[in-house]
Amino acid sequence: MNNLRWNATAPGSLFDKGVVGRRAMTFPRWDGEDMDSSLPEDICRASAADLPSLSEPEVMRHFTQLSTLNHHIERGMYPLGSCTMKYNPRVNEKIAGLSGLADLHPEQSVDDIQGLLGALKLLEKSLCTLTGFDSCSLIPAAGAHGEYLGMLVIRAFHLAREDHDRVEILIPDSAHGTNPASVVIAGMKPRTINSRSDGRIDLDALREAVGPQTAGIMITNPNTLGLFETDIREVSEIIHEAGGRLYMDGANMNAIMGKARPGDMGFDVVHLNLHKTMSTPHGGGGPGAGPICVTEELAPFLPGPWIKEEAEGRFTLDHVPAEGSTGIHSYFGNVGVLLRALAYVLRLGGNGLTRASEVAVLNANYLLKRLGDVMDVQHDKGCLHEFVASGSSWKKEYGIRTLDIAKRMLDFGIHAPTIYFPLIVDEAFMVEPTETESRESLDHLVDVLHTIHQEAQENPEMVKGAPHTTPAGRLDEANAARNPDLRWAGPCNCG
Ligand SMILES: *Cc1c(COP(=O)(O)O)cnc(C)c1O
Repeated sequence: MNNLRWNATAPGSLFDKGVVGRRAMTFPRWDGEDMDSSLPEDICRASAADLPSLSEPEVMRHFTQLSTLNHHIERGMYPLGSCTMKYNPRVNEKIAGLSGLADLHPEQSVDDIQGLLGALKLLEKSLCTLTGFDSCSLIPAAGAHGEYLGMLVIRAFHLAREDHDRVEILIPDSAHGTNPASVVIAGMKPRTINSRSDGRIDLDALREAVGPQTAGIMITNPNTLGLFETDIREVSEIIHEAGGRLYMDGANMNAIMGKARPGDMGFDVVHLNLHKTMSTPHGGGGPGAGPICVTEELAPFLPGPWIKEEAEGRFTLDHVPAEGSTGIHSYFGNVGVLLRALAYVLRLGGNGLTRASEVAVLNANYLLKRLGDVMDVQHDKGCLHEFVASGSSWKKEYGIRTLDIAKRMLDFGIHAPTIYFPLIVDEAFMVEPTETESRESLDHLVDVLHTIHQEAQENPEMVKGAPHTTPAGRLDEANAARNPDLRWAGPCNCG
């Protein structure tokens, strides 16, 4: 009897479905001349691969069912702090999929890809306008990759001036974890600067830390507490006077588009996370694009190929001079992601981008205010695109941890927020609603947290055992991350 029940939570394997010989498509018979299409014997398999044999509807149903097992932005809210998980306009997908763009091959001649080069150049210019810089490299494939390239550029700049000992990059303690990692991979040394009690950089600590070893500073602005670095001009003066350069982690640009430009604040390099700010879908490790924009002084150190506008509407590729960084990514980076970003920028325009940031900040402040009833919010004077609440009073009073709250939210159709980050807030609970959530969905989040708060007092086991309605309950997350086993291990004779 049980076997007859449709199991929504365990759709099984493709290998268990279908019937030998069934097909999703057939090719028309070839009625041209016979061609010798045989492959060399030594690269052929000994026997046919044991692949599932399914019809198109079976495949469609299988993958559609799988897609409903996981939470995603098309299914419900995703208030994952520091990630800007916003809804992605479908028109971007359509544009990136146009055959004149999607079907190009990177080895095609420059004459064949003029349209694509024009589109990429337009995106470079748009990002320079948005950030206040002169030059842009679209090549990095992720935010952290942009950081890495930015560090290589700063290092190359110092080396070109025979300034060999500048190897230290200062990093505030509120930084994203990728920042110090990128510094190390680029061959430099991170050094932590403490934040003041208001969550911003301590200028005295900064003055003490700079010296002839200072290559630069890396600042996330707005920072991971959702706060704008108000003393950024002073920071810029201190660093530049010491001979260093300023790198801005611009992953949080969603908060300040059209309001403030890193180039105007005194930064020398910024990276953007197009897969966050410009809405390309992300999560699960990609795809992404983390372009960097730089000042004129640093432009010679960008990797190639550089797209040059030779005459109006006519583009050429310039190969990298010796100073340029190499080996960053093949060709022009993740072109599909770049095209989605351009579609987003062009459709919104300058005013639209500004409005997106305004609503993102408004939504975050609305939640900050309303969640103050149930959670501790340290920096309650207002935030930018996100804020960090704390569940430490829940832990003290009800023995409920932030992890439990986050897990229980899944039962109400909301993705868990970012938890235990940044490390400087106890039981951190970091919320970034983004501009694409409506007032009703923000209110739903508030109602859910009030409900969980009540449960924490009346029925804490309900919260501690959550989630109860998802396909899998509590997972061994550390083990899943360190020893992922992604292969189907079910009954199949795949040998
Ligand atoms: C997301 C993020 C990054 C890293 O970007 P990836 O694309 O995940 O490599 C870096 N800094 C901040 C502040 C971020 O939010």
